[in-house]
Amino acid sequence: MADWFRKIADVFSPLTKFLGTDIAIDLGTANTLIYVRGEGILVNEPSFVAIDRETGKVQAVGREAKNMWGRAPENIEVVRPINDGVVDNYDAALLMLRDFLSRVSGRIKLVKSRMVICVPSRITQVEKRAVIDLGMECGAREVFLLDEPMAAAIGCELPVNEPKGCMVVDIGGGTTDVAIISMGGIACKDSVRVAGYEMDEAIKNHVRDKYQLRIGVLEAERIKIEIGSAVPGEKRSTVVTGTDLAKGTPKEVELVSDEIREAIAEPLNAIIDVVRRVLDNASPELVSDVARTGIMLTGGGSLLRGLDRAMEQKLMVKVNLAQEPLLSVVMGAGRALENFEEYRRAFIA
Ligand code: ADP
Ligand code: MG
Repeated sequence: MADWFRKIADVFSPLTKFLGTDIAIDLGTANTLIYVRGEGILVNEPSFVAIDRETGKVQAVGREAKNMWGRAPENIEVVRPINDGVVDNYDAALLMLRDFLSRVSGRIKLVKSRMVICVPSRITQVEKRAVIDLGMECGAREVFLLDEPMAAAIGCELPVNEPKGCMVVDIGGGTTDVAIISMGGIACKDSVRVAGYEMDEAIKNHVRDKYQLRIGVLEAERIKIEIGSAVPGEKRSTVVTGTDLAKGTPKEVELVSDEIREAIAEPLNAIIDVVRRVLDNASPELVSDVARTGIMLTGGGSLLRGLDRAMEQKLMVKVNLAQEPLLSVVMGAGRALENFEEYRRAFIA
């Protein structure tokens, strides 16, 4: 944006506020969250939409649609429109987002709103365009993009604008994104397509190989959340029901924490490796900043028991777990929107 234009926009910004509301959106692979200025988080739902194949009409969205996964009749397609953090199915994403926004539109003026949508830092120009179009089609007056690691760091109250490196590791559904932030920008970053879903998949494969039992991914996710752990010594167990591969009949098996820890060792190592890679490639100054303040761990995947401790042991750097790992990104985006001038540099042009 040209400087003169910026200055004029600044002069008018108190007025433009009355045109519509400020909205921040975390359009995640696993979960979508919507924050509305002055109201807080009004939507926090899985990124799923169920669509009638014949009419194209929405049958369900969010949690309700997720529960239909693997259970829906032939005429209903259950879609996850966001894949690895980017819009994978534009039409389905639009249906989903419109539905979520319609829930908040009773409380706020949606049309002409100023919208911040968080995107992965490795997003391409074409993918950015799709996100902007999505926001505009939902009625936004302006759409700003914000890097997810930046949003997460702001949400975790890290001093992103200072000339000091701070590191965030965001373990989501599809990807783990790592960044070192300094002076309002990203100094180094990397990501892998290994995160929560990969752990679910590993659990599914373990149950199949060890017990000849077929289970669904949602059941694998439940096992991970209930008894999963990144460190030994956790004494939890759960009973899982699936299909006996040989007989084709239902069968029950009891699983314990330690075997789940072994089953997810590979994805966990891949996650720790990407963090190590970013530290390896960072300048000694940034590394010493991170060593002093520690790594901020966030995203739903960071809720795995003991993951912070396991990471700390392997990297020999202090690891801090975010207070609300599932909310960091949307909270940070909301804060950036409310303090637009302070975080102006963080927004993607
Ligand atoms: P995204 O940003 O990709 O939408 P989220 O940050 O919302 O992802 O995190 C979703 C992931 O977090 C899922 O893979 C989910 O299984 C995982 N998750 C959520 N709660 C827990 C928990 N208590 N333990 C382990 N994993 C969890
Ligand atoms: Mg996320």
